[in-house]
Amino acid sequence: MSKAVRIHGYGGPDVLRWEDVPLPEPGPGEALIEQKAIGLNYIDVYFRTGLYKVSGFPAVIGQEGAGLVVATGQDVHSVAVGDRVAYAGPLGAYAGSRVIQADRLVRLPDAISFETAACIMLKGMTAQYLLHTTYKVRAGQTILVHAAAGGVGLLMCQWARHLGVTVIGVVSTEEKAALARDNGATHVVVGTQSLASDVKRITAGAMVPVVYDSVGRDTFKTSLECLAPLGLMVTYGSASGPVPPVDPSMLSAKGSLFLTRPSLATYTAKRSDLETSAGDLFSVIASGAVQAGLHQSFPLRDAAAAHTALEARQTTGSTVLVP
Ligand code: NDP
Repeated sequence: MSKAVRIHGYGGPDVLRWEDVPLPEPGPGEALIEQKAIGLNYIDVYFRTGLYKVSGFPAVIGQEGAGLVVATGQDVHSVAVGDRVAYAGPLGAYAGSRVIQADRLVRLPDAISFETAACIMLKGMTAQYLLHTTYKVRAGQTILVHAAAGGVGLLMCQWARHLGVTVIGVVSTEEKAALARDNGATHVVVGTQSLASDVKRITAGAMVPVVYDSVGRDTFKTSLECLAPLGLMVTYGSASGPVPPVDPSMLSAKGSLFLTRPSLATYTAKRSDLETSAGDLFSVIASGAVQAGLHQSFPLRDAAAAHTALEARQTTGSTVLVP
């Protein structure tokens, strides 16, 4: 037997139950990992509440982890027993041990600890594709990043600074503002009441070419107001709730804007893209340009407390669950 946090239905943090589960065996193309650290992500909240659906109950949620390969099924050539590995994507991370498709695993360089990997695989590869592919930022540009003191947010601030990009971060408290500044945001706006006019002042009227908005419902319209003509609105998360349907004519009225709703799964679907993204990430972490930002850790059995803190906006940076 093994231990896992499972849900038997959608709901509040109390649906997360610490249970005995059968130790799974890897099938063809799969590997069994003994997990050492698991990443907490806002997407875990969406799966717990039912905003995103699991395929059936009981379900083990969680999409980010790191550990040791302890067994492999047939036709696995990319990893071997004893390898230190990590992943972002397939559901099932909230467990002491888990089976996963081997082609979703990347080997960890010696310099990257299990805890660091559990902080960065999902959030860091997200920062990588948002800054390099969804919109390819260029040195000298000014960009807007919501939830700038959060898990993805702190990585975005640091990585953008490393690329010579000026970040305007948006946060909810002065403490978070200080943290965002320490991590590379040049300007920080606390609250969104006058965000468009703050951005106008900071950019001397130019506004920004791209907004990275992970808050969703509460900030979507305000974010559009912050864009320069032909700017790109990247709505990549729904921490405040999903964005309601959008009338495309709104985009033309605000200056022929572009809109995208990207997901990490698409950007790392091909093995070559996964390797490029993870490789870029490991190199900025190894060089020290970007710090993983482990700010909280909880025993896995206390996943409910971790969810409560995340939803109450009490966490900053990354949070790890320890099996
Ligand atoms: P965070 O650590 O950023 O936590 C969420 C933050 O959102 C909070 O700390 C809070 O910051 C802000 N927030 C604003 N409004 C609310 C609200 N009503 N309720 C709760 N939080 C609110 O989480 P993650 O780093 O795990 O994820 C950040 C976002 O990125 C999420 O929306 C997630 O879904 C998205 N994401 C998307 C991916 C993709 O590929 N599309 C991949 C990975 C993450 P503050 O108090 O400063 O406002």
